[in-house]
Amino acid sequence: MATKSKRQKAILRRNLFLAAVSVVLIAAIGLTVFIITSIMGGDDKNNNSDNQSGSQNQSVNNETEQSQEQTSSEPTPQKVMLGDFEGDATYERMLLVNVKNPLPEDHNYNENLMVFPSEYKWFSQDEVYRKLDKDMWPYLKAMMDACRAEIGEKEIGIISAWRDYSTQKILFDAQIEKWKNQGYSQSDAEKAAASRVAIPGTSEHHTGLAVDFNTTDQSFENTKAFKWLKENAEDYGFIMRYAKDKMDITGGIIYEPWHWRFVGINAAKEINAMGYCLEEYLQEKN
Ligand SMILES: [Zn+2]
Repeated sequence: MATKSKRQKAILRRNLFLAAVSVVLIAAIGLTVFIITSIMGGDDKNNNSDNQSGSQNQSVNNETEQSQEQTSSEPTPQKVMLGDFEGDATYERMLLVNVKNPLPEDHNYNENLMVFPSEYKWFSQDEVYRKLDKDMWPYLKAMMDACRAEIGEKEIGIISAWRDYSTQKILFDAQIEKWKNQGYSQSDAEKAAASRVAIPGTSEHHTGLAVDFNTTDQSFENTKAFKWLKENAEDYGFIMRYAKDKMDITGGIIYEPWHWRFVGINAAKEINAMGYCLEEYLQEKN
């Protein structure tokens, strides 16, 4: 009997010891979680009410939260086959560049570019004139391939793609010279130049998301390429950027049937259905 009760006592002591250890462990885990949460600023109220005086840890955490919000509000991709390229109809590129929204001279004009194959050029040109945004290119390539398959290989080609600030300045200065040679004063020549060539920093070609096809002549309107683009370009995410009746909104840019801009497939269809130009569309969206 004595040995049995000794054993029972031993078992009881062991159980008490295990219980005590468990309590200490749980307390320790609880404390650790509390400390980590405090350091990470897990309390939303803290983040919202104290953005300015927040510690470095907090501001890092705020950025993480913001990017998570952006990710979660992104639309679900809508896959669409464009030839053998799988596009996403929800993909958008909305950078607005015009007279009222110029890019600064020190903007990174070389960002996200690639050199596209020379066979897509209207005529052969150096690599420096064959640069475009590399994420937009598969959409443009698919559009040109489809267009060429339907109307003919030689019916459409890119004459103008991405341009940096200094190239635009050369074009603009040449226009001013042209008008001055015709007897215009400096300021009149500048005005005349600005209605034909975008002032450096204000050209949509700086974005790498716009192209000119075939010729910068209004006669482009009468080509098979133009007719095809009017019917099909939105399916690839492109809009004709400068319409006849939008001059006062786009910053005085004349009707340019040759100038096409990538915005994204769903966006292009919406813009066309509304009869808007990009400026009007963005104003309504914001
Ligand atoms: Zn253009």
